[in-house]
Amino acid sequence: MRAVLKFGGSSVQNLDLMKEVAQTIIEKKNTYNELVVVLSAMGKTTNSLIKMAKDITKYPNKRDVDLLISTGEVVSIALLSIMLNDMGYKSIALTGEKAGILTKGTHTKNKISSIDTRRVEAHIQAGNIVIVAGFQGFNEAGEVTTLGRGGSDTTAIALAAKLGAICEIYTDVSGIYGVDPRIYPDAQKLTQIDYEEMKEMAFLGANIMEPRSIDIAQNYGVTVYVTSLKNPLEGTYIKEYKQNMEDKKITGIAVTEKVVMVSIRRIPYSTKITAELFKDLALNEVNIDVINQNPSVGGTINIAFTAHADDLDAVNEVLDKFEAKNPTIQVLKVNEVVKVSIVGSAMRSQSGIAAEVFELFAENDLEVKLVTTSEISISYTFDNKYKNKVVEVLAKHFNV
Ligand code: ASP
Ligand code: MG
Repeated sequence: MRAVLKFGGSSVQNLDLMKEVAQTIIEKKNTYNELVVVLSAMGKTTNSLIKMAKDITKYPNKRDVDLLISTGEVVSIALLSIMLNDMGYKSIALTGEKAGILTKGTHTKNKISSIDTRRVEAHIQAGNIVIVAGFQGFNEAGEVTTLGRGGSDTTAIALAAKLGAICEIYTDVSGIYGVDPRIYPDAQKLTQIDYEEMKEMAFLGANIMEPRSIDIAQNYGVTVYVTSLKNPLEGTYIKEYKQNMEDKKITGIAVTEKVVMVSIRRIPYSTKITAELFKDLALNEVNIDVINQNPSVGGTINIAFTAHADDLDAVNEVLDKFEAKNPTIQVLKVNEVVKVSIVGSAMRSQSGIAAEVFELFAENDLEVKLVTTSEISISYTFDNKYKNKVVEVLAKHFNV
């Protein structure tokens, strides 16, 4: 049996902790005879490397940034390999390129296009623990690339897919909770979660796994086990599973903080004008989340949308221009909003969940601002002040 074990930055932030990682890997040799290990950079290394580049210039050249931030993972894999070899366990450290991870796209945001695992396989056959640098690869031009923040999860799961291995992810939370225990301390840990649900949770702000990596796991049927070094036996499996009749209606609640909500009233009703607004927002690199448009009344419409609070300056710039062009409009901005989403694949077959939730909010005097739905989730936007209450009411009601 083979496994890919991935350890996040906090598990290798110093040599003492790295030693615990090394011991875990050695113990794992009892369960799996073939081991590949993927590491992140030590602690907050990637952040500090990016900060140094930005201290030089606001817009550092992205090719250089990739070369720079790829060094974080190179340091951690080399140190771990030195450690394991010193402890008497044959191991070899490989950069993304040496591990055959070919990528495409723009620098700092590359995607894996293929993995040539011949070298990894050969090292496994030679009896090595193979340690691969997470988050990096190389492109057709032979240059070093990175996969976007949190990309080590993607490296690990993609390698597991290619190698036909299970993937164990070691992080600081010991598994996936139905809701972030920092917001709701009574949150329950899930023993398993469906790929679709996990993807939805990850995209909606549950900050545990890189959402793209779950896509790969699902496409290739990789079983992922999320756990911690402290409680390794109490993790959560991410895999395909069939809902039982008695399963919960709602599997999890995701909370996205730092959201700004903009509502614009009395926009002249013309798809051209709307298109221009969203094009300008896109050109300004604002990532729009929820969009809500009302039917036209008397030749005007109202539009509301949400974006990440970090993009506020960029949003303001666009709105100023938009107001200057369309003087009849009225802009209202609420900076302090939060998006709370309920997720559950049971929503596909069960009706009435939306109604149930509206009733719950009404009983508890919780005023919703915006609502959006997907096939397996419903997201509600609220004033920040309601955050804890909303989560508590939902978590208790749905037993999350
Ligand atoms: N070191 C990279 C980051 O901090 C990749 C990772 O940790 O997954 O984003
Ligand atoms: Mg991570």
